Amino acid sequence: MATTTDDLTAVELPLIGTLTQRQQRGQDCVWCGITLAAGTVTDLGPRRYRRADWVTYWFPRACKKHPRGEQ
Ligand SMILES: [Zn+2]
Repeated sequence: MATTTDDLTAVELPLIGTLTQRQQRGQDCVWCGITLAAGTVTDLGPRRYRRADWVTYWFPRACKKHPRGEQ
């Protein structure tokens, strides 16, 4: 695992329930919903997602415009 001082995994995201399936799959930007193209993607890291009695992970991604959700 690479270490980073730029900890994007600490960025607060929209609630997963408010996102589209494409956003949940990392196909669209979690912030603006734009379709992500190779080379213009910021990986926000795996996020724990608790659902009833089990926990899973999802892998949100963002476009380069606002990797931290800044509008
Ligand atoms: Zn975006």
